[in-house]
Amino acid sequence: MGKLNNKVALITGGNSGIGLATAELFVSEGAKVAITGRDENTLKDSASKIGSDTLAIKADVLNLSSLDHAYQQVETKMGKIDVLVVNAGIFKGAPLGDFSEELFDEIVDINFKGTFFTVKKALPYLNDGASIVITGSAAAEVGVENASVYSASKAAVRALARNFSADLLSRKIRVNVLSPGHVETPIHERLGLSPEQIKGLREELASGVPVKRVGTAEEMAKGYLFLASDDSSFVLGAEIVMDGGWSQL
Ligand code: NAD
Repeated sequence: MGKLNNKVALITGGNSGIGLATAELFVSEGAKVAITGRDENTLKDSASKIGSDTLAIKADVLNLSSLDHAYQQVETKMGKIDVLVVNAGIFKGAPLGDFSEELFDEIVDINFKGTFFTVKKALPYLNDGASIVITGSAAAEVGVENASVYSASKAAVRALARNFSADLLSRKIRVNVLSPGHVETPIHERLGLSPEQIKGLREELASGVPVKRVGTAEEMAKGYLFLASDDSSFVLGAEIVMDGGWSQL
């Protein structure tokens, strides 16, 4: 018997990295899974990897009406949502003196405003008793060069989870945050670096982690499963940090 038998789960950014690994684990635990993302091709490829019943929907959190469309599709094809993983996000940074308003807006619009409206717009489509898991970041707990806006956007979603949990108490909807540390995913490949530079970056990141390695998306998926399932029935407004001790030791 799976931990998510017959549950309907929607994972934003489920076509890549942490979201994809989480979708695969959720299906193996009995869930019916829908994923959203921006790229039609990776959506298709990821859906067939996750399982033939996976619903893949193109939706960009910068276009809020595409979220309405995504929720309507999930309801029509799968029913109301029991687990919502709000995971779509980007990492971008720049030296403080060079930080443009455009870059500020892009990071905040996707990571913070996108998270807020992904949850707000989901409300009519969620079952009472649902679990919402928001992807934060251990970066919100430490000072990192060039990453002030990213870190602040993730600190903001950490605060949202507490307040959303209070807002949704009457519906018994729990909202928690999973905050990864450095994890090997395509997020590093989107920085415009060469393969050698990406390798060097990951080695540098790993050297700063107490356990001397970066994490895997599959390790993160286990945390999402805990927060999504009844195993965490007494956990709300909370944060689980999975970072090899990076922000804690
Ligand atoms: P990834 O780049 O592989 O995945 C990001 C996902 O977000 C993709 O599916 C992408 O399509 C989606 N996305 C980005 N912008 C979007 C938009 N405007 N609309 C819809 N979807 C959008 O990276 P990942 O590492 O799997 O990242 C997943 C989450 O984990 C992000 O929120 C990221 O900030 C967070 N995180 C990652 C790390 C890490 O080291 N990998 C560390 C801490 C937090």
